[in-house]
Amino acid sequence: MKKILAFDVDQTLNVAKTPIPEEISELLIKLLRAGFKICPISGQKFDQFLIQIVDPILKNGGKPSDLKNLHLFVAQGTQYYRYNSSDKTYSPKNWEKVYNFPLTDAQVSEICSALEKSAKELGFWEEDKLKPGDEIIENRLSQVTFSALGQSAGTKEKYAWDPDCKKREKIVEKAKLLAPDFEFEIGGTTSINAFVPGMNKVFGMTHLMEELNAEKSDILYFGDMTQPGGNDYPVVEMGIDTITVRSHEDTAYALRGILGVSGALK
Ligand SMILES: [Mg+2]
Repeated sequence: MKKILAFDVDQTLNVAKTPIPEEISELLIKLLRAGFKICPISGQKFDQFLIQIVDPILKNGGKPSDLKNLHLFVAQGTQYYRYNSSDKTYSPKNWEKVYNFPLTDAQVSEICSALEKSAKELGFWEEDKLKPGDEIIENRLSQVTFSALGQSAGTKEKYAWDPDCKKREKIVEKAKLLAPDFEFEIGGTTSINAFVPGMNKVFGMTHLMEELNAEKSDILYFGDMTQPGGNDYPVVEMGIDTITVRSHEDTAYALRGILGVSGALK
């Protein structure tokens, strides 16, 4: 029986960049209470983990005590947070940052200029489509993320922008020539993540096993980008058991099965 359920976030637990739906929140609460360790791992920043995962769990009946089994692997697991309080009242201040491996300023600017130059040369720099205050390239501390239409674009526009990943493959090809010391990986619907080689989900999953004192065989991983080149593929390559989902509906279906087998589904 798997003790640890690890999840990609965008398109696996939610519709990209939105909070997890009520159904997923309720299933995660049941799993947390059944003693499973729930480990979301994604390229998002910590604040987004709170908005997309923690807040919906609390809104849908989760208690602060349920959070002790929730482990947040932020920025592809190059940062790890756990909830460290037995207070009955929830406070976001109780999230403890256990580790962090940030990029240097020089690394960030090298990646940013490579991505910007590549997208501009290809005609994929969509600055005019950004909402006020939004940005295409974001420094997420352990990685830099390019989001073609910004963070707050509508889901429909995002899906339509690059459904076959072809635009992003071209940007990646150019950016790699300009900044050869870094890895560029396609994720989400409009995103490219750039980081130091090895600082991908393999790094995150390796640290997860260390922190939670677990073996590969203890873990079941859910992701939507498990194809070669996708940001979940490194986990498959590690030899961790993986379930490929198309959407959070598939994830919910599988989670109900797990809860049924474990006897925790009421
Ligand atoms: Mg995903």
